[in-house]
Amino acid sequence: MSAPETPSYDDMIRDLSRSHPVVVSRDDSDEYTSVDGLIQQLRDEVFGGTDKGATSGNKNRLPLNAPALDLYTLIDRQISEVWGATFARIPGADKPERLLAQWAAHANPLDVTIVSSPETIYRNGLETVVWLKDETTAINLLSRWHRSITELFDPPRVATNPAACVQCGARESWQRRDGQTVKSTALALIIDRSTDRAKEMRCRACGAIWDSSVFEWLNGAIEANEKRLEDLKKVGA
Ligand SMILES: [Zn+2]
Repeated sequence: MSAPETPSYDDMIRDLSRSHPVVVSRDDSDEYTSVDGLIQQLRDEVFGGTDKGATSGNKNRLPLNAPALDLYTLIDRQISEVWGATFARIPGADKPERLLAQWAAHANPLDVTIVSSPETIYRNGLETVVWLKDETTAINLLSRWHRSITELFDPPRVATNPAACVQCGARESWQRRDGQTVKSTALALIIDRSTDRAKEMRCRACGAIWDSSVFEWLNGAIEANEKRLEDLKKVGA
């Protein structure tokens, strides 16, 4: 696969909802091949695809892929919500990619959208999922769906960073992975597979994303923040 670039609004609509070409790097040349829309790929992952050759992006099919089912359910729900809010009626039985294409064509990239978003809360070792209303722009929502499906099939290489997030202060984040709840650092550096370079820093606790253009500022901010916390501890001791 070629280096992932940030796709445009229209490219994300296309990738999510329709068959589209992707570049496959061979030994010394790039070739194009066609893959299903990401939502179709995700549905295949959940329900088992119809046998149609080697075009789908994943080879290992588990009988039931729980993370894929969770993601499909979430995206399906959010698409219904934004479609319903835009067209002021309840969507029919259309496939989610069709509703997505209708909504996205009607919306402007910077339109504010409100979707339900699950938040897992941990208290006394028990986890509860609460649904919050999440406000974001149309382009951010597309980008979130695009990225979460892409990363389900091709998890990014991540370098953990134990420092506190400069936005929310968290050092740890709890995540569902293969049906288990695991603890990881909040800050994670995403490494581009093709260049081996750090691509972006993410906070898995608050969802903040910083791209490489602000790394210098971010590293300074993290260091200053760590030093401040260190000083506070000394004062408290
Ligand atoms: Zn954070």
